[in-house]
Amino acid sequence: MRMVKKAVVVALGGNAILRHNERGTAEGQFSNVRRTSQHIAEIIREGYAVVVTHGNGPQVGDILLRNEMAKDTLPPMPLDICGAESQGMIGYMLQQSLNETLRAAGIDCPVVTVLTQTVVDADDPAFENPTKPIGPYYTEEQAKGLMKEKGWKMVPIPGKDYRRVVPSPRPIALVEGEVITRLVRDGMVVIAAGGGGIPVVSSPHGLLRGVEGVVDKDYTAALLARLIDADYLLILTDVEYVFLNYGDPDQQVIREMTVAGAKKHLAETHFPPGSMGPKIEAAIAFLEAGGRRVVITSLDSAGDALAGRVGTLIHR
Ligand code: ADP
Ligand code: MG
Repeated sequence: MRMVKKAVVVALGGNAILRHNERGTAEGQFSNVRRTSQHIAEIIREGYAVVVTHGNGPQVGDILLRNEMAKDTLPPMPLDICGAESQGMIGYMLQQSLNETLRAAGIDCPVVTVLTQTVVDADDPAFENPTKPIGPYYTEEQAKGLMKEKGWKMVPIPGKDYRRVVPSPRPIALVEGEVITRLVRDGMVVIAAGGGGIPVVSSPHGLLRGVEGVVDKDYTAALLARLIDADYLLILTDVEYVFLNYGDPDQQVIREMTVAGAKKHLAETHFPPGSMGPKIEAAIAFLEAGGRRVVITSLDSAGDALAGRVGTLIHR
């Protein structure tokens, strides 16, 4: 169905909530979220219907560490429940801050978080090959114990002991997709699919079960954008532009590229998996499904990016 207003999905990177080298106190995260809310409010003020999605890496990492440290007193929770917990805490901070910012700006627009489950395929090849590092670091001895006891896959991290890796399957559908669409249609600002959504698989009888995995938030953002028939997908991270030869002395800024160009640069390995790669792949998926444009830029450039003044624009 078509949205009346132009709709945009805003995908917030980790730095929108917690910046590098910050400890992650509640005050610190709230203060980042307030700054983030200013940017989102700017987009809403421009007249866009907005769905916000966000990463949860550092938050879920802290939750897992807390579980680990308390495990002799309280039963640790599985990853799907930790993911739900992180959606709740980040959704709460965004809801409160964004409400406050919108009210101060005289914009009458309710904000709501939808706890979101993302359906993945039980036969996704990612389950055969877990690659996504999560949670605390463990010594070699602890790692060996956990591999035996829980069947976790643990990998050595250069110079830093061991870490658990989990599968990162592709998102297929959002269980709460219909709810999200209706809320957006009714004029709400919706926060959804945090951390890529809680990965669930559907049994033959239609029952859903959480799985131990992490869906990349950029892929889910593309799915969300298709779901609400968004015009734009705005990916906010910690770089103002996408570059060719990123980090090299001869790096080159990309101001604009087509889907064909993006595919070519992706094949030439300019966009590594786990950071820029998923954003570019998400952009391609959204545009090939009919989306109009994708902008990748830094959080602080959000408003300028929608007006076309900064950021890397990707279009068909
Ligand atoms: P987010 O939390 O926003 O998903 P990521 O760290 O996953 O952030 O991805 C953004 C990072 O991608 C940037 O900080 C940058 O270091 C890295 N990056 C890798 N390749 C590129 C590239 N070609 N152009 C720009 N940034 C890149
Ligand atoms: Mg990322």
